[in-house]
Amino acid sequence: MNRIAIIGSGIAGLTFAWLAKQSGNHVTLFESQPRLGMDAHSINLDLETGPGPCDSARVDVPPRMFNSEDWPLLTRLYESLGVESQVVDASKSFTVENESSWLQLGNQYRGGFSVSALLNSKVRGVAAETARLQAEVTEEALRAMTHELTLGQFLDREAYSDDFIFDFLFPGLASTVLTCSYSALLNYPAKVALLSLLNQVDRSPLRRTSLGTADVVDRLIVNIDDVRLSTRLTSVSELDNHVTVSCPDDAENRFDQLIVATQANSAAKLLSDDPKLQRVRETLEAFEYENVSVVVHRDDSFMPPKASDRMCFNFNSRQDRTDAMCTMWLNRFYPEWSESGNVYQTIRPTRMPAKDTEIVIAAMQRPIVSQKSLSAVKDLQTHNAAGSRVSFIGSYAAATVPLLESGVASAFDLAGKMGMEAPSDLFETASD
Ligand SMILES: Cc1cc2nc3c(=O)[nH]c(=O)nc-3n(C[C@H](O)[C@H](O)[C@H](O)COP(=O)(O)OP(=O)(O)OC[C@H]3O[C@@H](n4cnc5c(N)ncnc54)[C@H](O)[C@@H]3O)c2cc1C
Repeated sequence: MNRIAIIGSGIAGLTFAWLAKQSGNHVTLFESQPRLGMDAHSINLDLETGPGPCDSARVDVPPRMFNSEDWPLLTRLYESLGVESQVVDASKSFTVENESSWLQLGNQYRGGFSVSALLNSKVRGVAAETARLQAEVTEEALRAMTHELTLGQFLDREAYSDDFIFDFLFPGLASTVLTCSYSALLNYPAKVALLSLLNQVDRSPLRRTSLGTADVVDRLIVNIDDVRLSTRLTSVSELDNHVTVSCPDDAENRFDQLIVATQANSAAKLLSDDPKLQRVRETLEAFEYENVSVVVHRDDSFMPPKASDRMCFNFNSRQDRTDAMCTMWLNRFYPEWSESGNVYQTIRPTRMPAKDTEIVIAAMQRPIVSQKSLSAVKDLQTHNAAGSRVSFIGSYAAATVPLLESGVASAFDLAGKMGMEAPSDLFETASD
């Protein structure tokens, strides 16, 4: 029986741990946070249900969504684990700060511009450019595109208007799909960003897990031999016939194989002591991250001023067109709640909610895709295929937008390379 250690319990580490257990290995999972990483920021919220006892609800922070087109492997994994899911309310509003909302799209996945909204010339222009983008960005057109073309260059070359880019397209990309700054968006490889957009817009509806991230985590972790929470590892060494991992308060631990499933920047720090791992450390340093915060709160001023304009996803862009945030109306995202008071979750807030309305602030990081990171992905895959005892997985380790899907795919890919056995239908999908 192989003794395998995994560092990091995000979706990639948990999926690999589950696969390694399925093939009969002894699995130890290390996580620096006090709770498993994938569910580490979620909260229990006391609901103000009016007179009578308070109800409590679990809120996923961040709320992660998927569909079968852009997340085929995750969908198969969830089905195989018995994770139930449901369609998310897709209604959206778009507002420029300090103004009234200029566009509302209903709870539908195709089209969505109402006839009355089209009376407004800005909406008409944006609807026409949305149709043009959908016609231009076909699978065939994307296949012909090189990774050198950035999203900024593509939009400039095709002469999309500032209204379309900064009041409609970028608010959605920056605060939901890609979760990054406008400068990172402009530099994003167009092929990667547009493929994700193509797969998420106008296809099958986005879904969320019915019982939240905690349910996924519970199902993936069920048979793991040894789970060590609040254990931040500080160094890793690869020797001829084993690997050692160390943390300040614990003895050195020995394993046959080590899977580093942390963020790339944390992984690079773990390798600084071992000369054999310096080349891969340089590869990991090529992945860049941006800080992303998510706030759960009850500040109504984050919603469009007019009650009838308030939707499930409410995008708000800055007047100077440099950034945007998305406020999710959680009472609509979780329609099963019995909550009477409004609760919101704002992703990448451009200002903070009033202090007395704040429930929790979560600080996270998101990898930024660029030409440099795409080339590092190839080097990392070469390292993982070369038979080292130390391998690397994570949502950053793929030539796509870093999402749950790429985390799962990287775990399946490595497990396949290591000759592990798992439900054959899942492996077939992974190598497609
Ligand atoms: C606001 C926001 C919204 C998102 N929405 C979606 C969505 O709707 N759909 C979707 O598919 N994806 C979404 N994502 C992306 C998705 O959440 C990530 O891609 C995915 O969770 C990353 O998983 P991972 O396993 O690669 O890494 P992580 O989840 O980052 O896991 C790495 C783990 O390693 C641990 N760790 C790091 N260093 C050490 C150390 N030295 N010792 C021990 N442990 C360590 C960390 O604590 C962490 O738990 C969103 C991301 C953000 C920020």
